[in-house]
Amino acid sequence: MQKRALIVGLGVAGMSAAIGLRRAGWTAVIVERAPGRRTGGYFVNLMPEGMRAAQDLGLDTLHTRDPERGTTWELNRRGHRRPAVGWLDLPGRPTAMVRGDVEAALWQRIRPDGEDGVEVRFATAPVGIAEGDTSVEVVLEDASAGRRHRESFDLVVGADGLRSTVRRLAFGPDERFMTTWNAMICAFPLPGRLPSFGAQDSLVSARAGRAVWVFGLADRAPTALLTYRAKDIGAQFTGNRTERLRAVFDDMDHPAVRHVLDALAGTTDCLFDSVHQVRMDRWHTGRVVLAGDAAWCLNLFSGMGTTAALAGGAELGRVLAEHPGDLAAALTAWEGRLRPFVTTHQRLARLKQQWFMPTHRVSAVVRALVLRLAVGARSGVTEARLLRAAAPVPDGA
Ligand SMILES: Cc1cc2nc3c(=O)[nH]c(=O)nc-3n(C[C@H](O)[C@H](O)[C@H](O)COP(=O)(O)OP(=O)(O)OC[C@H]3O[C@@H](n4cnc5c(N)ncnc54)[C@H](O)[C@@H]3O)c2cc1C
Repeated sequence: MQKRALIVGLGVAGMSAAIGLRRAGWTAVIVERAPGRRTGGYFVNLMPEGMRAAQDLGLDTLHTRDPERGTTWELNRRGHRRPAVGWLDLPGRPTAMVRGDVEAALWQRIRPDGEDGVEVRFATAPVGIAEGDTSVEVVLEDASAGRRHRESFDLVVGADGLRSTVRRLAFGPDERFMTTWNAMICAFPLPGRLPSFGAQDSLVSARAGRAVWVFGLADRAPTALLTYRAKDIGAQFTGNRTERLRAVFDDMDHPAVRHVLDALAGTTDCLFDSVHQVRMDRWHTGRVVLAGDAAWCLNLFSGMGTTAALAGGAELGRVLAEHPGDLAAALTAWEGRLRPFVTTHQRLARLKQQWFMPTHRVSAVVRALVLRLAVGARSGVTEARLLRAAAPVPDGA
């Protein structure tokens, strides 16, 4: 009889795992807490490992948005812009898109009438998990019908993100696994290009403990990301969010930054959250396995979370196919293959954070110096362009 898995979460990790499981001959059911599938989302870049995993998973409809004609600009303290090193200049040829592009391509495959079609139940979440020797019993709550029922599976995949319910039910409370980075993020799409910038231009304005990023993309308006350090994380979730952010970025008095903050006031598609990493010694028990942010959240500073979520799903299918009658061996092999990659990128995230948002004044100075040198050395940035860019650009030009 076909083995049956419950996947909790219809994000990148959950849908990737569904394709992997289908490929290994399993039946998969996805439950998603939200009442429908989300779209849109913030900028993400996929590293080559992620593009390879996307290929493995057959994501032939994946829409990419590399800004062919854009320049990344950095605002200095006086509000002058200079060419800068952006996400897409990172070594390893990243590819730009928004999270919704990855999810749309995954959905094309796993939607009930898709090539790797699975059953998807919205407004449904697990409230209890009990593992036995031969199966795992899950109590599922359907919020739309206000009903609970018990169902039996061979495997539960917890792909329910940073604050995973599956992790809490099967492994323990969040505090045991979530490390706090004393930083906040606010990511949202802009309604249009930044005034006085090109349609595909990107922008960064970074000071000690806070940064504004705008990511220019092909085929759509840019997305914005505000990030700042905060000692009292709980307090950040109280009061008016826009006013709080206006106060944090008060001294970055530039039309582009004001434009971003005005757009924040009008947006409905906004992710505002604290920054954490999830650190666990083990990602699986007998019949429960965690994947994606639920298992290893690398966080936004790493820029590798989507890549890792795709790779995790593709690899899960591979190990299950390699160990058809031995779940324990399959899950052990899966962890063994993924852990070195995850550990490396969890460590690198601290370093990347300094480039993304320098945490202190000294790192802000070092960052600025290193970036000036990097921009100078980067191929494709000519001396004439640098000189031109070094001249102040008046506001509104
Ligand atoms: C601002 C920002 C920028 C980023 N930039 C990049 C980047 O450039 N490159 C990159 O590779 N990564 C990036 N990442 C990371 C990447 O977005 C995540 O690592 C990835 O999306 C995680 O996917 P996931 O499926 O594990 O979790 P999620 O995307 O969190 O999905 C979890 C799903 O589970 C559902 N769910 C939650 N709880 C339950 C429950 N109890 N029951 C049922 N369903 C539930 C949620 O509704 C959601 O649909 C960025 C992240 C952020 C926040």
